[in-house]
Amino acid sequence: MINVREKYLGSNDRMSFWDRLYLPAIFKGMAVTLKHMLFSKSVTTQYPEEKRVIAPRYRGRHVLKRDEQGRERCTACYCCAYICPAQCIKIMAADVTPEIQHNHPGDKYAKSFEIDLFRCIYCGFCQEACPKAAIFLEDIYELAVDSRDKFVIGKDVLVAKEGGPRKIRV
Ligand code: SF4
Ligand code: SF4
Repeated sequence: MINVREKYLGSNDRMSFWDRLYLPAIFKGMAVTLKHMLFSKSVTTQYPEEKRVIAPRYRGRHVLKRDEQGRERCTACYCCAYICPAQCIKIMAADVTPEIQHNHPGDKYAKSFEIDLFRCIYCGFCQEACPKAAIFLEDIYELAVDSRDKFVIGKDVLVAKEGGPRKIRV
């Protein structure tokens, strides 16, 4: 009968007695496992009780910012929709009438603003292109919902509740 191991590896590669027992290798492996179990710091996060610390450059769900006076920064210029490689931003612009002037700094505003989070690739181009520093990908990563259509989010979800200073990009 042909010994395949000998044929391809040569007789010098014969396993020693201890190698054939496999026990030293098993104990060696167990020692590595035990070392990590007993002496290494755990990297597991007890989510959802414990939230992960997100890197400052993390790109999660979008937020449409308000300015210091609480007005919506977005002026419906379409730059973000134009640059978006996934074409997942849909904006409908409208004129700012005197009745809503207190909420919008420009002549136009986004009457509707929708992002399809299924199509979005979280590239951050929209944030880079926005001339008004209105749209940002924040550290929101809890995106689970119970139906597909809830992944198309509108202004009710996107617009920040409060105003704030002009955010600096990192
Ligand atoms: S992050 Fe990229 S893909 Fe997503 S909406 Fe912005 S530009 Fe489009
Ligand atoms: S979010 Fe910025 S880029 Fe997009 S339409 Fe509004 S102002 Fe323009």
